[in-house]
Amino acid sequence: MSNELNISNKNKHKIIVANWKMNGSKTLLEEFSTFSQTKPCDIILCPPFTLLGSAKSLLPDFIKIGAQNCSEKDNGAFTGEISATLLRDSHVYYVIIGHSERRTLYQETDTVILKKVETVIRSDLIPIVCIGETLSEKKANKTLQVLEKQINACITKVNAQTRLIVAYEPIWAIGTGLTPNENEIRETHLHIKKKLSAHFNIDVPVLYGGSANAENCSRILSIENVDGLLVGGASLKKYDFEMICNC
Ligand code: PEP
Repeated sequence: MSNELNISNKNKHKIIVANWKMNGSKTLLEEFSTFSQTKPCDIILCPPFTLLGSAKSLLPDFIKIGAQNCSEKDNGAFTGEISATLLRDSHVYYVIIGHSERRTLYQETDTVILKKVETVIRSDLIPIVCIGETLSEKKANKTLQVLEKQINACITKVNAQTRLIVAYEPIWAIGTGLTPNENEIRETHLHIKKKLSAHFNIDVPVLYGGSANAENCSRILSIENVDGLLVGGASLKKYDFEMICNC
């Protein structure tokens, strides 16, 4: 795969993922065609399905393209669904799986998410698997327990040699302007890394997601075991996303 990131132990570059959700347009992609990168980092932009073709033709080559979801099925009579292989044929190399909006609004269970992770890997793409706790789980001091359950159910069941990215996204931080404090991020990322390294022979990058923006990105990226960011709202403004990628 020519378009893939080097997510090995040696890779020190931060990974910055833009999740445009059901937003964006060809006009916004045209704006992003002049995106400038002044610091080394790996950038993945995940627009809605219908903009994937335009993303391939309009974005600079250093921005890799990802999708926000895919079917757990490989092919067949599943009207309205998009398979991982169809995405691969559209120059997609990464797929966000298990975003909290998919889990809560579309009732995606850990079982479905595991199937999606498996089909993405089978199709030679790299899943970006999202995990995170709700506010009530955090208040009940259950964050690590919840993360561990999600990791066991959707991540460590897959082939131990595989390439994947994990995104820790506290659900209460997504789109709210709230973020965990530095100690909380440090503690959770360390816990996730430990769980993953007990199972995988490769170093799995762990990104932070949830209200990351141009102001807080340097602070969050400097925390140990934060290998990058998954950015929603702030990735829809070219200037802000440039600041984040170059911070
Ligand atoms: C997200 O939806 O994955 C996300 C991190 O959103 P935001 O940056 O807007 O909180």
